[in-house]
Amino acid sequence: MARTRGGTDAPTIELKDAATIARIGRAGAIVAATLAALRERCAPGVTTGELNDLAHDFITARGGVPTFLGVPGQHGPFPGAICASVNEEIVHGIPGRRALADGDLLKIDVGVTLDGWVADSATTVPIGAVAPEAERLIRVSEEALAAGIAAARAGNRLVDISAAIQRVGRRAGYGIVREFSGHGVGRALWEEPSVPNYTEPGAGSGPILRAGMTLAIEPIFTLGTPEHETLADGWTAVTRDRALAAHVEHTIAITGRGPALILTR
Ligand code: MG
Ligand code: MG
Repeated sequence: MARTRGGTDAPTIELKDAATIARIGRAGAIVAATLAALRERCAPGVTTGELNDLAHDFITARGGVPTFLGVPGQHGPFPGAICASVNEEIVHGIPGRRALADGDLLKIDVGVTLDGWVADSATTVPIGAVAPEAERLIRVSEEALAAGIAAARAGNRLVDISAAIQRVGRRAGYGIVREFSGHGVGRALWEEPSVPNYTEPGAGSGPILRAGMTLAIEPIFTLGTPEHETLADGWTAVTRDRALAAHVEHTIAITGRGPALILTR
């Protein structure tokens, strides 16, 4: 799940020790396995509600809790175990009776809480045969995620992650959604800091990244406008021009030296 824009100017970022990162990693392993099982199940005719039920059973059978179920929102708690967002739906789609169709682009977002520790990851799945521009949108979003993770090194600045993601999105000419951000994660789904997918002159470079920070990094790109609106359900964010959107996400831990650990692979 992405965090809606906001947060404090001087965030207090909790540093996790190795044992805690290992616990988040155990939640992350369930997230990764759930996403793999869902991906396997995705096909034309399958409903997002069926995927939700599969995820719910898969997570609870492993001792986890679906983190998103019951997250408070403006129009009531989130009713799904996962977010399932199709085509122009960007993030926070509510699973239900919608059947997937050949050519759809499905974003699946999964959070798992295990023994009190949270991991969060999302993937974009092509359903059947998708248009070449949809395939490219997925590929570039994954490249942006990889670039953001590569910038997540101790001694870099938070803005280096944002800039790396933005660079990849801009080069491809995509809309970069601003209202939803990555975020700190671990003890709670949304912790400090926000991890935006863009930079802004004068916005500062943010805190220095330090070993023990655990972050959900999540580029969100569109084939058209970066503007969104929220549907009447109070949750589902769609592109204002109804163009396709992609969303990919990993929970990572910044290490003392070398690349970040990906906890949801
Ligand atoms: Mg997520
Ligand atoms: Mg997230």
